[in-house]
Amino acid sequence: MEADIVVVGAGAAGLPAAIVAREAGASVIVVEAEADIGGHAITSGGNVPLGGGTSVQKKYGIGDSPDILFKDLTDWSVVEPNGFPDYRYNDHEIIRAFADNSAPTFEFLLSHGVVFADRAPDQRGGGAVGNSVPREMHAVPVDWPLVQTGAPAAPEERLTFSTGNGLMRPLEAAARKAGVEILLEHRLTALHREGIRSGRVTGIAATHGGDSLNINARTAVILATGGSTGNVEFRRMFDPRLTEEYCGLAGMPWSNQDASGEIAGMEVGAALWGLFNQSGEFGATITKPGRIGTQYGYVNLHWQPGSKVFHKARATGLRVSDWQNVILVNMLGKRFYDETGRQFTANNYNVIRPYVHGHYLNAKNIRYEPNNWLNAAMAGIGDGKNGGGPIWAIFDSAAVAREKWQTKPPHVDTEAGFFYEAGTIEELAAKITMKYQRVPMPPENLAATVALYNNFVVDGVDSDFGKPKPLYTIEKPPFYAAWSTPVIHDTRAGLRINAKCQVVDMRGAVIPGLYCAGESAGGFSAHGLGRATCQGFIAGHAATG
Ligand SMILES: Cc1cc2nc3c(=O)[nH]c(=O)nc-3n(C[C@H](O)[C@H](O)[C@H](O)COP(=O)(O)OP(=O)(O)OC[C@H]3O[C@@H](n4cnc5c(N)ncnc54)[C@H](O)[C@@H]3O)c2cc1C
Repeated sequence: MEADIVVVGAGAAGLPAAIVAREAGASVIVVEAEADIGGHAITSGGNVPLGGGTSVQKKYGIGDSPDILFKDLTDWSVVEPNGFPDYRYNDHEIIRAFADNSAPTFEFLLSHGVVFADRAPDQRGGGAVGNSVPREMHAVPVDWPLVQTGAPAAPEERLTFSTGNGLMRPLEAAARKAGVEILLEHRLTALHREGIRSGRVTGIAATHGGDSLNINARTAVILATGGSTGNVEFRRMFDPRLTEEYCGLAGMPWSNQDASGEIAGMEVGAALWGLFNQSGEFGATITKPGRIGTQYGYVNLHWQPGSKVFHKARATGLRVSDWQNVILVNMLGKRFYDETGRQFTANNYNVIRPYVHGHYLNAKNIRYEPNNWLNAAMAGIGDGKNGGGPIWAIFDSAAVAREKWQTKPPHVDTEAGFFYEAGTIEELAAKITMKYQRVPMPPENLAATVALYNNFVVDGVDSDFGKPKPLYTIEKPPFYAAWSTPVIHDTRAGLRINAKCQVVDMRGAVIPGLYCAGESAGGFSAHGLGRATCQGFIAGHAATG
């Protein structure tokens, strides 16, 4: 097969790139590894941070411009509520390109069928998208079925519910209408380049149903493969703690982030870029699970039996409304932190008040939240291995009643070992034998932990970790253990690119014919859809310009 442009990945970056390139007159093939388009973007909350003076910002009297956006995203003086400075490590060339193309990308989405909730931009769903003005817009599903349920949204929510389904299905329709060829279940395995480390990138190697094939790219290949956090070996280059038990990637099991784009790029000489943005502890890069008893516990992604990937998700999970209802223990059956503690924090509109661009007092005006539930959860347990191992929520039937949980499949995943029930605490500990539990949980440890915690409840004081007034004893059988291990979310480091999204090698030279956009590209610390759609837009133009 052959096309002018080969786009790898049909997600938030890939589809805009494909549409732009096709509308510029190029023939375009998109290869997508999964059985459907959308990537993490279709599972997302559809909160789209694009600004710099969009038509909607103007409509609501919000003064924004490319310069304000650029200054926001490169402001050295801004720190997160946990003290980490996430804009300080952004590559200014890449941010300038984003700032200049952000509003045009938004208008491109509008003109290609994406419907946004008819209200003023706000700050909902953002993370590192600038402090000075609201930029979040919310894609709505209209009548598209939701991948999470298999059904359309409720009639009263079709124009208000923010969801990635409302972003990606219209883009798919626009791509097909424009004549983009989309090859599903085609997985990139390598890039072809004229020389090993020289010359132009000429196409890709892919697999499809067990067969290997090559697709030639007459002009360019655009990598839009969505990041690397699903690849244990790759992600541990940035954070050695992230061993295999962190298996509940947000966005899975719809699609993975297996670093295949990054690795293919590196094999033809590409450099990585902006690596602090991955290991800096901010935003949703790693999150506390919001649903327990399931492998895929990301708080905002609720798989339900009608979904066509439910056989892979296996359970809906139990939504925790009050962390007072459980204690969390590590592999050894020991508590490690206040269960109500929060995760890494995120910078966003109005987090710093008052805020003056580049002012050294900005850091003083932030409300610090030096929370470290995640660091405590991922701390080693002393068995000589990296990674903290599974975290288990332990609770009794009284907690089940308070939370109105249902403790049978499909609500919980008993078959794959993400949920256990037993008549005594000791039996419960002995039952936990799943593959990531690399040491047995000593029953006497869990019994002692529960007994001590029950004493804390009676005394009204958690003298180990300071949980605010522990409320409920754990004493009414049956007892339960539910998977509650941290969830990995965004990739914020990837291949080195320049302002045109051209991939750059380790000597600082552009690799001719190779582009990268979205979470597989480095140098830009921000949560999600804004940078991905915008870089797809940039790459599509640059590759055909
Ligand atoms: C549950 C969830 C909620 C989110 N909510 C928001 C939100 O509200 N707002 C926001 O701004 N961001 C949000 N995000 C983040 C946002 O969805 C991502 O940042 C964005 O989708 C990244 O775009 P991308 O194109 O880089 O990757 P993706 O959208 O993931 O697309 C990558 C595509 O490449 C494909 N692919 C990967 N490897 C290969 C290969 N070797 N060959 C062929 N195809 C391949 C994948 O299958 C996938 O379809 C959310 C993410 C998740 C998971």
